Amino acid sequence: MNCRSCQTELVEFFSLGQMPSINVFLKKEEEFATEKKYNLSVGFCPKCSLVQIIDTIPPKDLFVDYVYFSAVSTQFLEHCKENANELTKKLNLGPESLVLEVASNDGSQLQEFKNLGIPVLGVDPAKNIAKVANEKGIKTIDEFFSYSLAKKLKEEQNIQADLIFGANVLAHVEGIVDFVKGVKELLKPKGTAVFEFPYARGLIEKKFDVIYHEHVFYYSLIALIHLFKTADLEIYDVKMTPMQGGSLMFFACHAGAFPIHQNVKDLQAQEIESGFDKLETYQKLAEDVLGIKNELLDLLKKIKSEGKRVAAYSASAKGTVLLNYFGINTNYIDFIVDKSPAKQGLYTPGTHFLVYPPEKVGEDKPDYLLILCWNLADEVMQMEELKAWREGGGKFIIPVPEVKII
Ligand SMILES: [Zn+2]
Repeated sequence: MNCRSCQTELVEFFSLGQMPSINVFLKKEEEFATEKKYNLSVGFCPKCSLVQIIDTIPPKDLFVDYVYFSAVSTQFLEHCKENANELTKKLNLGPESLVLEVASNDGSQLQEFKNLGIPVLGVDPAKNIAKVANEKGIKTIDEFFSYSLAKKLKEEQNIQADLIFGANVLAHVEGIVDFVKGVKELLKPKGTAVFEFPYARGLIEKKFDVIYHEHVFYYSLIALIHLFKTADLEIYDVKMTPMQGGSLMFFACHAGAFPIHQNVKDLQAQEIESGFDKLETYQKLAEDVLGIKNELLDLLKKIKSEGKRVAAYSASAKGTVLLNYFGINTNYIDFIVDKSPAKQGLYTPGTHFLVYPPEKVGEDKPDYLLILCWNLADEVMQMEELKAWREGGGKFIIPVPEVKII
C-alpha cells in the first residue's frame, strides 16, 4: 500500500488483527455469525511521515446511516461553543462572512456560529444526520466533500468561505489530496481553514484505541505541512485541545496570505526532537499496548475470582477497539451501558454485548465500572445516573494510557 498523501510505499508497524467496523452495531443475534471483520494495521510513510491505516473497509461495506450523534457529550457541546466564540474573534467573522463545516454532523457546531449571527453551511454525507440538521434550520448538503463538490459550489452558487471548519474529518477521508484541493477551491483569498483531530502524539503515549478502520490518518504537524503544500496551502497557526484525549487544531491559508506564527515552528521542532519522523518511534507502540493488555486482563481476572462484577461504560469507537483487541468478552465484563439512545438495545461490534442505558448500573449494582471512553472519564464519573451507585461504593477502572482504579 502506498502513502495516500505522497505515494511512497508504507511500512507497517502495528497490527490489531481482524476487527469489525466500529460503526456497525448488530440488531439481532442471528447477525453474529455473518458479521464481517477486516485486517486492521497501521503503517508509516518514510518520506512524508504520515501515519495511516494500511487497509480500509471496502466502500461497498460502509454504512450510510451512522449511529453516532455528536450532541451526546457535554464536553463536546461546550467545546463547540468555545470554538465558535474563539474563531469568530480570531478571524473577525460577522454577518457578511460564511462558515462552512465539512462533516457537520447534526449541526451542533454550526448552531453556535449561527447563534452569533454568522451565516453557516454544512456538508455531511450521512443522509439521516444531515436531515436532522436541516430540520433544526442548519442548511446541510448531504454529500461527500470533494474537489468536484467544491468546484460545483463555487462555480454554480458562487460560494466561498471565510472559515472552513472540520472536526475529526481530516483523519477519516481516504482521498485526502482531493479533499485538500477542495478546501483550496472554496477558501476566500483571506479565508482560513481550521481542522481538529486526535494528534499523532497519542500513539507515542500508548493511546492506541484511536486506531480503527474509519480513522485513516494519524497526523503530525510535519506530515500535515507536506500534505497542504500539495494544494498550495500553508499552515500558519496551531493549538492543542483536550478533545478525544489530546487533539491538534491548526489554521491554514492560501500560501503567503498570513505570516506563520512562531508556535508552528516550535511544534515542528518538538516533533523532530520526539522522533515523529522516524519509524522506530512508532514501533514501540505494540510493546506498550501489550503491557496495558496484560495488566487490565490480570485485574479483571482478579476481580472475577473474588466473585465481583464489572460493567463497562460506553459502546464508543475506543471501547470497540479495546474490547476486541484485548479479547474481552462476557468472561470479564457483565454488561455495557451507553448514554446514546441510538445504541441502546443493539449489540456491540465484534464482542456482542447488548447495550443498556446508564441507569442499569444503579439497578444492577456491579462492583466496578470500566470506563472505555477514558478521554471523558471526568464527565462519566460525575454523571447523575451513576451518583447513587458511586456513593454506595462503586469504583471506576480507567484502562488507557495507564490502568488505574478510582
Ligand atoms: Zn507520504
